[in-house]
Amino acid sequence: MTTPVYLDNNATTCVAEEVLEAMWPYLTKLYGNPSSMHTFGGQVAKVVKQSRENVANLIGADPSEIVFTSCGSEGDNAAIRAAIAANPEKRHLVTTQVEHPAVLNLCRTLEKQGYSVTYLSVDEKGCLNLDELRLALREDTALVSVMAANNETGVVFPIDRIANIVKERGILFHVDAVQAVGKLPLNLRDSAIDFLVFSGHKLHAPKGIGALYVRRGTRFRPLIVGGHQERGRRGGTENIPAIAGLGKAAELAMQHLEDENTGVRSLRDRLELNLLREIPDCQLNGHPAMRLPNTTNIGFKYIEGEAILLLLDRYGICASSGSACTSGSLEPSHVLRAMGLPYTLLHGSIRFSLSRYTTAEEIDRVLDAMPKIVQRLRDISPFKDDAANWLQPAAAAR
Ligand code: PLP
Repeated sequence: MTTPVYLDNNATTCVAEEVLEAMWPYLTKLYGNPSSMHTFGGQVAKVVKQSRENVANLIGADPSEIVFTSCGSEGDNAAIRAAIAANPEKRHLVTTQVEHPAVLNLCRTLEKQGYSVTYLSVDEKGCLNLDELRLALREDTALVSVMAANNETGVVFPIDRIANIVKERGILFHVDAVQAVGKLPLNLRDSAIDFLVFSGHKLHAPKGIGALYVRRGTRFRPLIVGGHQERGRRGGTENIPAIAGLGKAAELAMQHLEDENTGVRSLRDRLELNLLREIPDCQLNGHPAMRLPNTTNIGFKYIEGEAILLLLDRYGICASSGSACTSGSLEPSHVLRAMGLPYTLLHGSIRFSLSRYTTAEEIDRVLDAMPKIVQRLRDISPFKDDAANWLQPAAAAR
């Protein structure tokens, strides 16, 4: 199989060579337990310390504020559950309609347990209205949870402004920054964020490792109760090779942050501008400027996103559509639906997400393939002469 053109980096990223090298000793010779009293274990504790410093450095935090986790979903669950445990008398949460399922499905679970949740809306560009947030805050609000950047559209939310609004009311604030860390500069030292979560596999570390920032002084209850690891904030023997990998990935992300916002952005812009110019009846989903530098989400009218993905796959190109196949029916993305996209675009939207490993030649391959794919699908589309049907889901189904 030839190497694919991998433009699905918001789903996961390749492990950087340097990261693999940093992990190797801890998968082979240095297998001790960092909690052991002997020198052999102590050697391993050193890499945990170094990685914690690197991770803290990447987000402008103090190393003591970092808890290693297994993934972004765990971090989100730990933060939200810690916040509500710290405020048992408060039974209201605020989040947005466009969060990742790691937050949304936990909120739905909490609703079943008697909590009430306000889901803030977004406009047609995927942006929040901060007045709606202000109005949603109540005396019994335990936590506000808002993502830093959306995984589907890349739209960036103003988390520092939100943190100040939330702080004025003495409410805890959690940020799912899984898509933002390593792509946008963050400095938690100057912000009022209480919890922030990210995940290694989105920034060229392996799967199975993440980090949770807990502001110093914030009351915290562990999700995983066990030994004294992570200063009692997460039980379980640490995943040392992955922690070593995350530390290296954080160091590399710091070095590449500028490139992310210049090199990666310019390739993304070239891809986006050319697709929008060469292919009729398509549009950008999400705010054109307030966006991650690596993400573009484009809706192609009158065709199905899944069909585009299948044909892209034949060209060896990996991308993603917003739809998720749930119980046999193709559900359009909850993010694009919240933005009020018309039916024609909801079903035909594709996300391309780049990384620092993406090359200009790869972008050329996509620019060559996409117009042919869209033309081919439109030629066989039953709706090609009947666009009105696409505005009426019920009619289309008949
Ligand atoms: N939050 C966001 C915004 C994400 O994009 C993802 C993963 O795609 C997650 C949370 C979950 O992260 P993980 O896969 O590490 O559990």
